[in-house]
Amino acid sequence: MLDYHIHTALCGHASGAMEEYVEFAQTQPLREIGFSDHLPMLKWGQPEYAMPFSKLPEYARRVQELRGMFPKLPIKLGIEADYYSPEDEAATRSLLAQHPFDYVYGSVHFVEDWAIDDPQNLRRWEQTGVNTVYELYFAQLRRAANSRLFDIMSHTDLAKKFGHRPTKDFSEDIEKTVRAYKDAGVAVEINTSGLRRPVKEMYPSRDILRLLRRYDIPLVFGSDAHAPNEVGRDFASANALALELGFVELVVFEQRKIVDTDPL
Ligand code: ZN
Ligand code: FE
Ligand code: FE
Ligand code: ZN
Repeated sequence: MLDYHIHTALCGHASGAMEEYVEFAQTQPLREIGFSDHLPMLKWGQPEYAMPFSKLPEYARRVQELRGMFPKLPIKLGIEADYYSPEDEAATRSLLAQHPFDYVYGSVHFVEDWAIDDPQNLRRWEQTGVNTVYELYFAQLRRAANSRLFDIMSHTDLAKKFGHRPTKDFSEDIEKTVRAYKDAGVAVEINTSGLRRPVKEMYPSRDILRLLRRYDIPLVFGSDAHAPNEVGRDFASANALALELGFVELVVFEQRKIVDTDPL
């Protein structure tokens, strides 16, 4: 197995030294890991949402150093990048070109200008209405995929984090989104962090995963670890779920290409 979604203290809301994440990974059945900390935010972010621009070179350099320190465990240089709007795509693209990333996660945390996964914004949820947030969210995911900025779409139904459930049927929206993923050639992740949130479910749901499988979308696993002992968390359950739904492998990224597979 592999864990491609690992944060670091550089982002301001994770704990532990980067070495500790790798050391913990070595106690787990992982053949490879990748760091994917939050890319500095071009707009809308609070200082504690992501690393500042000044830290990005240090982040890339620290991952390279860790490779030397832990030669037995492949360590990829990934990043989790936010999608904002078509006007911001060029700036995101040039930021991503500054470092030799092995993969780029595309994340939608914002609709309009607020982060749907920040508990401080629960009032915005109420004001906007759950159905509208979901509509905006899926439209953003499609724009993100269409931008061709990303290799992997992260936590693809993040909107459920606090247990908000739409009353409208979103199956058409979801299928349109999965088709956009297919056209963009992106992979998706099973992100186990949802199990540690109020919703107590992995991202994405079983129904979405079934659809992703039907469209033959490549799969990775991510713990979204913000502490060393979260690396690889609940991957046995993720593995069982993926197998049950007919997935047979995870994909391995290098220099922004799928170069290998890892059987489930
Ligand atoms: Zn984070
Ligand atoms: Fe995220
Ligand atoms: Fe993350
Ligand atoms: Zn995340």
